[in-house]
Amino acid sequence: MTSRMPTLGTDPLDTLRTTISGSVALPGEPGYDAATPWNLAVPVRPRAVIAVESAFDVVTTVRFAAEHDLKVAVQRTGHGAVPLGDDVLLVYTARLTECTIDPGTRTARLGAGLVWQQVIDAAAPHGLAPLAGSSPNVGVAGFLTGGGVGPLVRTYGLSADHVRAFDLVTGNGDVLRVTPDQHAELFRGLRGGKATLGIVTAVEIDLMPLPSFYGGALYFDGADAAAVAHTWLDLCADLPEHTSTSLAFLQLPPLPGVPRPLAGRATVSVRFASVADAADAEAIIGALRGVATPILDGIGTLPYTALGAVHADPVDPMPSHEYSALTRDLTHEAIDALLAVAGPGSHSPQTIVELRLLGGALDREPRHRSVFCHRDAAFSVMVIGVLAPPVADAVVPHTHVLDRALAPWTTGTAMPNFAATGDPARIARTYDDDTAHWLGALADEHDAHGVLRVGQVVRTSR
Ligand SMILES: Cc1cc2nc3c(=O)[nH]c(=O)nc-3n(C[C@H](O)[C@H](O)[C@H](O)COP(=O)(O)OP(=O)(O)OC[C@H]3O[C@@H](n4cnc5c(N)ncnc54)[C@H](O)[C@@H]3O)c2cc1C
Repeated sequence: MTSRMPTLGTDPLDTLRTTISGSVALPGEPGYDAATPWNLAVPVRPRAVIAVESAFDVVTTVRFAAEHDLKVAVQRTGHGAVPLGDDVLLVYTARLTECTIDPGTRTARLGAGLVWQQVIDAAAPHGLAPLAGSSPNVGVAGFLTGGGVGPLVRTYGLSADHVRAFDLVTGNGDVLRVTPDQHAELFRGLRGGKATLGIVTAVEIDLMPLPSFYGGALYFDGADAAAVAHTWLDLCADLPEHTSTSLAFLQLPPLPGVPRPLAGRATVSVRFASVADAADAEAIIGALRGVATPILDGIGTLPYTALGAVHADPVDPMPSHEYSALTRDLTHEAIDALLAVAGPGSHSPQTIVELRLLGGALDREPRHRSVFCHRDAAFSVMVIGVLAPPVADAVVPHTHVLDRALAPWTTGTAMPNFAATGDPARIARTYDDDTAHWLGALADEHDAHGVLRVGQVVRTSR
């Protein structure tokens, strides 16, 4: 790290520019657009983008903001971007790329700028695997501070339950190593609290001895959606913990990268990821092959490096709108209700309407408490609509239709990773009242000037 003496310039940000080893980019300057979020619909227009290279850079930014009455937000990929305006300095973490795999302890130390595929690829030569999310392009720190529900969630639980330590910069500008024993209250609050308690610069996690898994996705024609969805729900009823699954109604555009059989039509995808041996997993999955003939069959023993193939989430940045919910147990009436508003022939404008089975290991309290609430939800609902013609105007109103249709089963709660918003009412849905109060009070203690009071954070009302 190089540190230079501050010099005076016409813009106070010149002081920051000359003090940190990373870079400061104002609107129109090179580097500003690097922070264009994956979700292009979210207006991320901070005063400056601070591409940090060290914890020192983050501390300096936080202290600078406190002195100049500015806020500080953090972003890596913008998969969970929140609107930011010109009262905000945006800490952009992409240059924090430390990645150390320790095969002996089966752990990894990861800079906050890594995305999951980088970690997956680094761990794979050792036969080890991180508990990544469905999209390998999501950032490690954003995912883990939101809990992290990955394709193997029913087997291993929340990814954040497998964190060993965080390096944290608080709103007070303190640099802390946070573990179950050091700053234990922060260790609890960082797992599920997003950036409420500070900016994570590095994280240490457990790795699983998992060179491969059995799974992937079966894709069916939209005409088979009802039969497939009802059979899938039956299969969910007593699915062993060694297997996780989700179902998605898809309307993928005919764009490069979208497999031809799936492009420009309604399809339904059933995803599996199992750590059982292939024969046991196939015995479960085979039930679906009897219902209809898949138009694409991507199930098999896959190297862990292909984890992203399970959900095949969209890769390229796009203007999108998300809707999410958690549900209690779903009935066949719920499937019919969903088919009516989001299935083939419903004129749904949504690109992806996903039901993810939860439960299993997720539903057990981990060894170390976290602020991730609502572990007992049975399913998550995740809807992504693309805000582009010809459906741009229909996407948001249709989420209200979906919401009403599913109301008999939804719990009114949400998971932090699927609640990218600065709206306190929506953030409140991700925690129970006691947890939100505890988290907000802890945040106030570690951020006396309210520097981090922006975006998806929990605070007391003062
Ligand atoms: C296509 C898609 C698939 C997804 N799949 C899953 C999934 O399978 N499971 C799941 O749990 N989630 C999933 N998500 C949600 C995703 O995990 C969250 O949006 C997450 O916040 C993304 O992290 P990021 O750093 O890439 O995003 P960013 O938009 O860069 O960050 C989002 C937020 O994360 C927090 N954050 C980011 N970096 C830091 C940091 N260094 N320190 C502290 N806080 C930080 C901040 O609150 C920030 O506003 C998915 C999202 C999309 C769009």
